[in-house]
Amino acid sequence: MKYQPVSNFIGKEFIKGSNGSLDVLSPIDGTIISQVFLSSADDVGKAVRTARKALPSWAEMPIKERVQIFFKYKYLLEKYMEELTNLVVEENGKTYDEAKAEILKSAELTEFACSMPQLISGELLEVSKGVECREQHYPVGVVASITPFNFPNMVPNWTIPNALVLGNTMIMKPSELVPLSTNRIAEILQEAGLPKGVFNIVHGDRVTVEAICDNPDIDAITFVGSTKVAKIVYKRGTSNLKRVLALGGAKNHLIVLPDANVEMTASNVAGSMSGCAGQRCMAASAMVGVGSIDHIVEELCTEARKIIPGKNLGAIISAEAKKRIENYISEAENDGAKVLVDGRNIVVEGKEKGFYVGPTVIDYVKPEMKIAKEEVFGPVLSIMRVDNIDQAIEIENSSNYGNAAAVFTQSGGAANYVTERASAGMIGVNIGVPVPREPFSFGGWNESRFGVGDITGKSSIEFWTKTKKITTKWNPESQINWMS
Ligand code: NAD
Repeated sequence: MKYQPVSNFIGKEFIKGSNGSLDVLSPIDGTIISQVFLSSADDVGKAVRTARKALPSWAEMPIKERVQIFFKYKYLLEKYMEELTNLVVEENGKTYDEAKAEILKSAELTEFACSMPQLISGELLEVSKGVECREQHYPVGVVASITPFNFPNMVPNWTIPNALVLGNTMIMKPSELVPLSTNRIAEILQEAGLPKGVFNIVHGDRVTVEAICDNPDIDAITFVGSTKVAKIVYKRGTSNLKRVLALGGAKNHLIVLPDANVEMTASNVAGSMSGCAGQRCMAASAMVGVGSIDHIVEELCTEARKIIPGKNLGAIISAEAKKRIENYISEAENDGAKVLVDGRNIVVEGKEKGFYVGPTVIDYVKPEMKIAKEEVFGPVLSIMRVDNIDQAIEIENSSNYGNAAAVFTQSGGAANYVTERASAGMIGVNIGVPVPREPFSFGGWNESRFGVGDITGKSSIEFWTKTKKITTKWNPESQINWMS
């Protein structure tokens, strides 16, 4: 095994989880690169007690001091960029450029967290004669963050810098498929000077997540993963009276109008559906073509054929996921859709045991087909054809999900018509992956997000803090009832 077995990180120590272990495979060639020890409810309890003990002194530290540690953390993310990039490549299977972009984004997220002292200065108003009201933010307490496999470095950094800078202590539960990056993050946080117990990791699966939801000493949970598990975590966490924000899966629609710029649209759509091998919650999954769009479909297929597995297309996370994706394609074909570019049964030379699916474009998909409704989470684009823009919007609106949507057109009026009506939290105009950058925040609608607010940006301040409203009167001569 290339890497040491992966243990929990509690306090300043690496301690083995006590609930068995799993092999960690590299999706690139299927080899076992490590092993991860899974955690029981007792292991979670130990991490929570450690985070609880660290909370008072961390929460009392002035925010300007807490931020200094994150300036250093950002510097270290950049210093170790190459190493962190390669770790993501190995455990997740994405390409080097995609992995590097992930670390750069983690640095950007940290940069935003470093601006928190200015952002949370609060409000002060003379609410009545001689009476002032001000608002102050306080940490929620011990918080937990549960993350998926698809961004082993960036998604943990959606929550770590903001939550910690705002004075919380944290238990992180990474995906058991990609446990290595998070442990390296823990080491880097220590190097940056984070006090003992402020950041802890418990590795594990369902058992560990359920223990987090049930632990009475955890105050808030964020979850990022599939909708199925987001619902479980949201229900279980809130029924235990915790604050929960749970981000789920996606089925993102790109509406393409015939006047769209052909080259730009084709390369954007191809990039959106195949980036990170389609394993991102912002990936284009369905393209709804309005009217005559054959010229765009043709160019799109040319672009898709330039995407080569093992070169500019990364691997799928597991053999099971590869099979699931290929089944979706075959089922659509059997139901009458036309596979224009076929990514099934791909073998990459020299990486024969890797889990690869090539770029796949399927035309004449019908809205009632399974592939049109469910999240495929692979480099697969379904094309549906409609006669007018309202029919396209109707298809987008009928999805249970609502993470992202986009419109491709050269008409401002048409673009506005779609952005006003799409039922999604993040909308692109001539942009295939419309990720909002800070201070805007990341989060979808419908079954792509359960809970109030978004996970990053300014919106996250509300989630990671409690506010206190302090009303003050120092002028005894003023006998006016403050409510007057
Ligand atoms: P997943 O739901 O299988 O796993 C996410 C986390 O939940 C992991 O830590 C895992 O250990 C845990 N888990 C898995 N099954 C569980 C169960 N039955 N009970 C309790 N915990 C369980 O998701 P994944 O396969 O790791 O990631 C892919 C999914 O994440 C996709 O659906 C993708 O759209 C979604 N995602 C969403 C966003 C977003 O911002 N909305 C971002 C990234 C990924």
